[in-house]
Amino acid sequence: MNLKILKLLVLLVLISITISCAENNNPEDSAVMPEDTTVVQIHGLLQVNGNRILDQHSAPVCFAGNSFFWSNDNWGGERYYKSEVVSWLKLDWKTTIVRAAMGVEDPGGYLDNKTANKNRVKTVVDAAIDEGLYVIIDWHSHHAEDNTNEAALFFQEMANLYGEYDNVIYELYNEPLDISWSNIIKPYAISIIATIRAIDPDNLIIVGTPEWSQRVDLAAADPITGYSNIAYTLHFYTVHHQQWLRDRASAALNDGIALFVTEWGSIGYSQIDSEANEWMTWCFDNKISHCNWAVNDKEEEWSILIPGASTSGGWSDDDLTDAGKLARNIIRNWPE
Ligand code: MG
Repeated sequence: MNLKILKLLVLLVLISITISCAENNNPEDSAVMPEDTTVVQIHGLLQVNGNRILDQHSAPVCFAGNSFFWSNDNWGGERYYKSEVVSWLKLDWKTTIVRAAMGVEDPGGYLDNKTANKNRVKTVVDAAIDEGLYVIIDWHSHHAEDNTNEAALFFQEMANLYGEYDNVIYELYNEPLDISWSNIIKPYAISIIATIRAIDPDNLIIVGTPEWSQRVDLAAADPITGYSNIAYTLHFYTVHHQQWLRDRASAALNDGIALFVTEWGSIGYSQIDSEANEWMTWCFDNKISHCNWAVNDKEEEWSILIPGASTSGGWSDDDLTDAGKLARNIIRNWPE
């Protein structure tokens, strides 16, 4: 090989290396990875470990999002059970978790009209799966132990439909009243957990606690054993529940159970912004996920929307209540 040809070859190799490096430095090359990576793609199946909830990489996680209102026929909140609303909450509120609150015993609830209420739940769950969000299937009841068989059949169907999806979380009993944890709620929960686990061995299950899901101390003193991936419900409304409930919940965490705030409510910036801040700081410090009550336009302090706001999302600031503005600010800025 003569020298000229050798030099030419060396030059060609150098040029090709340079081009290849330039290509690799091109940021568009990272498009090999899907750009729209969802929260569920990142974190996967949630897993209780002690008093924390871990993601698929064993990192403690907590998510911020929205609870829908009771699904009951003609209560108003059912009009918001739409895929467009889920999409809007993801896009504009940066919500990472939604909760379908299926009313059970009251008029227009599941026992009255199974098809309509179940379809509303499925609409929200399917939309959450499409959008890559976590979603809670909530048996929104104050008397679940009165209809254990109905609850078992419902969760059997949900586990068959959705047990394969990392998105899905089962909530067995929204808010028990002032009844026994050990003698009523716990046996109810164990029977539903057994039904779900026969189909779905691994998705997170959340169990309500006495006195409107505030007596997490009672669950901590007598937790459910024999099944894994179980957390317990804590609810708070800033007008009623302050430091005393945080202290109780902190003690329950110290006793070793994991908590999940499937509902919280504030009346917005006007009066007790500072109490909402206290709670959010506590949730963040303790890695506790939370869903804000509620996606609805009913004229009450907890609604995020003013009466008549669109039932398909696309809301402007003027469509939000005081509570809605505060909740949006918290959820949008929640550090992942
Ligand atoms: Mg599963």
